[in-house]
Amino acid sequence: MGLIVQKFGGSSVANTERLKNVARIITDTYQAGNDVVAVLSAQGDTTDDLLEKAAEINPRASKRELDMLLSTGEQQSISLCAMAIEALGFPVVSLCGWQVGMKTNRNYGDARITRIDRDRLESELGQHRIVLVAGFQGINRFDDITTLGRGGSDTSAVALAAVLHADRCQIYTDVDGVYTADPRLVPDAHKLDEITYDEMLELATLGAQVLHNRSVEMAKKYNVKLEVLSSFTGHTGTTVREVVKTMEKSHISGVAKDKNIARLALVGLSDQPGIAFKVFSLLAREKINVDIILQSIGRDDTKDISFTVARSDLARAKEHLEKRRDTLGFQRLEVNDHCAKVSIVGAGMINSPGVAATMFEALFDAGININMISTSEIKVSVLVDESQADRAVQVIHNQFFREFGQNR
Ligand code: ADP
Ligand code: ASP
Ligand code: MG
Repeated sequence: MGLIVQKFGGSSVANTERLKNVARIITDTYQAGNDVVAVLSAQGDTTDDLLEKAAEINPRASKRELDMLLSTGEQQSISLCAMAIEALGFPVVSLCGWQVGMKTNRNYGDARITRIDRDRLESELGQHRIVLVAGFQGINRFDDITTLGRGGSDTSAVALAAVLHADRCQIYTDVDGVYTADPRLVPDAHKLDEITYDEMLELATLGAQVLHNRSVEMAKKYNVKLEVLSSFTGHTGTTVREVVKTMEKSHISGVAKDKNIARLALVGLSDQPGIAFKVFSLLAREKINVDIILQSIGRDDTKDISFTVARSDLARAKEHLEKRRDTLGFQRLEVNDHCAKVSIVGAGMINSPGVAATMFEALFDAGININMISTSEIKVSVLVDESQADRAVQVIHNQFFREFGQNR
């Protein structure tokens, strides 16, 4: 007994039958003596459909108006689910982001939560109502509706769990938990019973969309006990927490893929101090995030610098670099937007020589060429051609989980 925050994703609330199923999960939790705050996403593909509709009317619509539109998807879900709960005979109230005081910064389309006023939530819970909250949305200081970025309902849920000091935050989705790779891509991927916040954060950031990466960051910061589980099967899911039993084991916890990436190469830069500073400070000023960076050794007083950015930032990055061509002094700007990043993640990796080599061997055996490599204490990422990315995930997964045996 206690306070439980539950979050149900788009596929879990996709139609009437599934909404009724979610209503049952929520009311069962309530009937077991818990206070329940449930965060819902928009039904099925509603958010994509709304974006398409907007693009038909104005492909350059302002982010403010897009947020105004997108937030309606979540509002539909909570009101419909509240009706289902009413029909089951339980006290319930549905609330939008602004009604639960979900304050964000002004950044339409990718807003950060700055504060949550607990008053309304506490008053509703005090009256023993089940509280349904629209995910993915907040309100900024101009009293405008904002959204938190795609997949942001996970972050709404964790933020509410943190501010209400919930006993647990359960993220209900369409798979049984966090797997060693996307189970839709690698059918023999294994479900993890537990994973650390750090590993989960890397996996989510590197493309495993099962959790919004900011939700994991927040869960770690506020020590929210997070659980990922299926709204369809009722099986035990994956717990995300600080330390897990298997942490010392020197194998990886997962493979992830990110196709939202593009590579730029500045060829023939003059080989002088300060060039990298000029290039990357220019991009930083334009708020363009750079990921993997590779600098060639100098030859004939020139060098090349390649780096990756999010595909959505490619056009802007290109434009700003071309504009400064003379000051930066490069000969050519090459662009590749048909690449993908494939990564392995594991907390024990640092103490285990040969992990990267095992990954490269799998790619070599499959004839997949590596364009760039980047490593940190708990991950190795490679850039490959987009058309080979799915196969790269499969062969890497096969190599590791055959080699190390699966004993998590
Ligand atoms: P929701 O709508 O519930 O938020 P998402 O589609 O955002 O669900 O996330 C769930 C999906 O994440 C799964 O259907 C699965 O295909 C994908 N996924 C990618 N990587 C992983 C992984 N490592 N473990 C589990 N699911 C993953
Ligand atoms: N409905 C939003 C999206 O599709 C938010 C979410 O589902 O988390 O991105
Ligand atoms: Mg999601």
